Order: sequence, then C-alpha cells, then structure tokens
Amino acid sequence: MIRIKILIAALFFAGIAQVFGQKPEDTEFYEPVPNVVTPGNTGLQPLTPPSDAIVLFDGKSLENWQTLDGKPAQWLIGKDGSITVVKGKGDIVTKQKFGNFQLHIEFRTPAQVVGTGQGRGNSGIFMQERYELQVLDCYNNKTYTNGQTASIYKQTVPLVNVCRKPGEWQAYDVIYSAPVFNEDGTLKTPAYITVLQNGVLVQNHTEIKGTTEYIGAPKIIKHDKGGIKLQDHGNPVSYRNIWIREL
Ligand code: MG
Repeated sequence: MIRIKILIAALFFAGIAQVFGQKPEDTEFYEPVPNVVTPGNTGLQPLTPPSDAIVLFDGKSLENWQTLDGKPAQWLIGKDGSITVVKGKGDIVTKQKFGNFQLHIEFRTPAQVVGTGQGRGNSGIFMQERYELQVLDCYNNKTYTNGQTASIYKQTVPLVNVCRKPGEWQAYDVIYSAPVFNEDGTLKTPAYITVLQNGVLVQNHTEIKGTTEYIGAPKIIKHDKGGIKLQDHGNPVSYRNIWIREL
C-alpha cells in the first residue's frame, strides 16, 4: 500500500516537473520557411461587404465590441475608418458569438518599424476567442515560422509569406468551421480554417489542434459559440472593414 502511495506521489511530482519545465521555445519552429510572394492589389482598397454580411466594424463605432470583462472597448477610432490597438486597453471581443463563418478583416501594421521578431506589429485574430490567426509585421522580419503572419499561432506555418510593407493595408479572408464536441467533452470533429491573405491562400483547410498556448501543447476544451477577439499585444496595429457571414 505504501509503495503504491509512493508511486502515486512520484507520478504527481513528475507531472508538475513536466509542466514547470516547459519553455516557450519548445513549441517554436524555424523551418520550413515559407516562400515570399508579392501579392496583387487585393486588400489595398476596402472590400465592400456583401448584402447578407454582419458588419462588425463599419469605421465609425465600436458598439459591437467590448473588453473581455464586458466593458466598452477603448481602442482608437481613426478618421480613416480604422481602429487601432491602444496599449494596455486590452483585447476586444465581439458581443455576438459565432460558430461557422466567413470573416473578412483588414489590418495594418505600424509604418514606423519598432522592435523585432514577435515584438514588431504583433496582434492577432482569435476564432471563437480561442484560436489565434497571427497578425505580425513579417516583411523582412525573422521569427519562428509557426508564429509568423498568417500562422495558426504555434501550430501551423502559413503556405507562403505574402506580407505587404509596414504601414500598408492587408486583408484576411477566413473560412472557419467550429469544432464539434461529444457530451463528455472529447473532440468529435476538429476546427478547420482556410485563410487567404491579400488574395493568396495561406492556410488550406488547416486542422486546428486546440487552444492557442504560448507555453505547452494546444488543449482540447469543450466550448460553445464564441466571439471574434482582437489582441492587444502592445503594438499599435490597426483594423478596418470587418464583416462576417454565418454559415
Ligand atoms: Mg499575436
């Protein structure tokens, strides 16, 4: 009996050691490096929403958004119809929650380049508040490739690097199918995501492996519908023309 207790205690402490021993670098990969592609003109001009789209940001009001604790969103609304991250004001999330959808969103990393790697024009778009499509300035900016622009952060490298220069508008078009869970919380069907950046395919029906984690492996955690969340990573990244179609 005592032996079994010692064994259980040993396994418990081994588990703790494993969790505390994990480092961010353990889940960062530098190869393969996606080829650089120069995009066409898609995304330079705002794309007009189709008639059945839900407009999440129309350039004037943040009424469809809030902070994670339900307070009014306090990002900066610009005269050019954009919203910009205000460092420290926190992530913002749509009040409405979604399952399967098509999302259009335009983004702009700062024209004035500050920082390197993950510190340069970092933000992100989270599907259902959990799964990050990375926003970063990856125009001649080296970082781990599963954390570069259009990666599914710390999971899947994009097919190509089709970033425009800092300060230029870019577009993501996302087709997302939500994960389906069994009653007991296990995964029945994973989430899938397809992404075009500036009209070029960067994620092709990519399986999402679980929650976005800075340290450690993605987690499978049962959830219902969720909002679109935009990340405050401390850099003044802007967004405009955000609309969604439920599928
Ligand atoms: Mg990010």
